[in-house]
Amino acid sequence: MIDLRSDTVTKPSGEMLEAMMTAEVGDDVFGEDPTVMILENKIAKYFGKEAALFCPSGTMTNQIAVRINTQPQDELLCDRTSHIYNYEGGGAAYNSMVSIKLMHGDLGRFTANDVLENINPDDIHYARTSMVSIENTVNKGGGSVFPLDTIKEIAKVAVDNKLKMHLDGARVFNALVKSGENPLHHGKCFHTMSVCFSKGLGAPVGSALLGSKEAIARARRVRKVFGGGMRQAGYLAAACIYALENNVARLKDDHRRANQLANMFEDKMYVENIVSAGTNIVIVSITKDKSVKQLLEEWKKKGLLAVPFGPNDIRLVTHLNFTDDMLQKTTEILA
Ligand SMILES: *Cc1c(COP(=O)(O)O)cnc(C)c1O
Repeated sequence: MIDLRSDTVTKPSGEMLEAMMTAEVGDDVFGEDPTVMILENKIAKYFGKEAALFCPSGTMTNQIAVRINTQPQDELLCDRTSHIYNYEGGGAAYNSMVSIKLMHGDLGRFTANDVLENINPDDIHYARTSMVSIENTVNKGGGSVFPLDTIKEIAKVAVDNKLKMHLDGARVFNALVKSGENPLHHGKCFHTMSVCFSKGLGAPVGSALLGSKEAIARARRVRKVFGGGMRQAGYLAAACIYALENNVARLKDDHRRANQLANMFEDKMYVENIVSAGTNIVIVSITKDKSVKQLLEEWKKKGLLAVPFGPNDIRLVTHLNFTDDMLQKTTEILA
C-alpha cells in the first residue's frame, strides 16, 4: 500500500530504533532524563532560543503556547486555514478561554498590515488582542512557505503592540529546507515556537515548544496539568535526536516527489485545481461531477491512500517512507 494520507504515517528505521533502544533514560518528570535534556538543548540551540520543552504532540505544544501567551478573555490572531483553529478541537476556548480572530491570507500567509488591522482597540467592549500565530509551512495552503521577510514585519507589529508571536512549526523544517533560510533568523521573530519531529522528520512521537527560560518554566507547569509529563521519555527523545541529525536535509527529496506528484494530476479530467507550494503537500480539487469519496475508494483498491480535505478536495503528503519506486507506481495507479 502506498500511504500518502500524511507525513505522520512513517515507521522508524532500523537505525532510529537502535538509537531508541540504546538511549540513556531517567524520570523526566523529576528532570532526570539525560536524553530528553540533550534533545531540549539541541532543538533550542537550533533556533537560537534559550530553552525547550519536549511534549507528546504538536497540539499540546500549540495549546501550551496559547495558555502561556494569553489571559482568559483575550483574543488570538491566526489565519482561517490554521491548525490551531481548525484541528485542535476548539482547544483555545476550552484550555485557555480565549477567542480567535481569523485572517484571510494568501494560502494561509497573512501580512503585517492584516495583523495591524485586526488588533482590537483598547476598549472594554473588545477582547484584548494578545497573540498572533503563524503556521509554517501552511498545511491547508498546500505546504506554502511563509516568507521570512513577512514574518519579520509581523514580528515588528507584534512587538510594537505587545502581542506574543507564536510559530506553529509542525513543518518548519520543510520551510527551512525549501527556502534555505537560517533557523536562527526565524527564532528571533518568535516568543514561542512549536516544532514537530513526528511529521517530515519521521520520529514516531514528539514535538517541542521553544522559548525563553521564563516561558518554558511556565510551559512546564502547564504541560504537567495537561497530563503531558512523561517518565522515561528519553526513548522517544532519542528518536527525535536521530531525526534532527539525519532526516532534515533529505526533505528536499519529499519536495521533489510532491512536485512530480502534483504534475501527474495536470492532465486529469476530474481535476479542477491543484495547490502545491513546492514542499511536501499536494491538494487536488475535484470537479463537481466526481465524488471525493468514490475517487479515494478507487485509488484504495489499486493500492493508494490519500485523505479527503474538504468537500471537493483531496490531500496527498510525501514523506520518508515514500520512495521513487512508489512514485512510479503512483503514476500507474493514477493513469
Ligand atoms: C500535525 C500538525 C500539528 C500537530 O499535530 P499533532 O498530531 O498533535 O502532533 C500542528 N500544526 C500543524 C500545522 C500540523 O500539521
